[in-house]
Amino acid sequence: MGSLDGRLAVVTGATRGIGLAIAERLLSDGAKVVATGRAGEARGPAGSRYMAADFDDADAVESLARSLADLGPDILINNAGINKVSPFAAIDLADFDRIHRINLAVPFRLCQAVLPGMRSKGWGRIVSISSVWGKVSRAGRASYSASKFGLDGMTTALAAEAAGDGVLVNCVAPGFTDTELTRRVLGEAGIAALVAQVPAGRLARPEEIASFVAWLAGPENTYISGQNIAIDGGFTRV
Ligand code: NAP
Repeated sequence: MGSLDGRLAVVTGATRGIGLAIAERLLSDGAKVVATGRAGEARGPAGSRYMAADFDDADAVESLARSLADLGPDILINNAGINKVSPFAAIDLADFDRIHRINLAVPFRLCQAVLPGMRSKGWGRIVSISSVWGKVSRAGRASYSASKFGLDGMTTALAAEAAGDGVLVNCVAPGFTDTELTRRVLGEAGIAALVAQVPAGRLARPEEIASFVAWLAGPENTYISGQNIAIDGGFTRV
């Protein structure tokens, strides 16, 4: 028996990287999993149910929100997210808006959609994937940090409203994680430079993020809500 037997979980952006690892972990813990991504054809881990929704498309987001409201998941993992590094003065307003839409407005809408079902069952878990740049920040990261700090604020307020109904709402803030994207964007030299700033001396593995997300989303978490917990090898504490 898995700890999540009988639970239905939704993981956005579960086609690769951290979201894929989370979906795989929830499946192995016994949950039924709905995985989302942009592609029309099915993606996500074997054994999951795939739903396509491009978060750039307002109609697709609304349609996904309504489908999730009907499905009534027990667990929502807001994982899909984007980033674009740019000097502050050069940030394009359209890019700033897009990052906020995908990283913050879509999680807001999906939380709204699943909350009534969770409340009526008296049990729900929402975990949104923030970032170390949602706890601290650096030059060039205004758009991404603003969206991730916003996710933390939304989580805090929602947790205050929902905990009394058995719905626990948290963020986790991964540090530099070994995904295809990280390797492609940073390259070996970029990764070495980042890792030198991490007390643990290495990147996180997606499975390390996934195991804590699964714990927060599971029955052993009975009292943690409204938190933004870093999984970063110590990076934000030095
Ligand atoms: P990733 O490998 O780039 O995967 C992103 C996922 O989000 C994919 O499944 C992708 O689906 C989906 N997605 C992207 N744009 C979308 C859109 N417009 N509409 C719908 N879905 C979209 O990302 P990751 O590195 O695993 O990051 C996952 C989360 O962790 C993000 O919120 C990110 O900010 C956060 N994070 C990552 C790191 C890191 O080091 N990797 C560190 C801290 C926080 P498609 O397959 O359709 O593209």
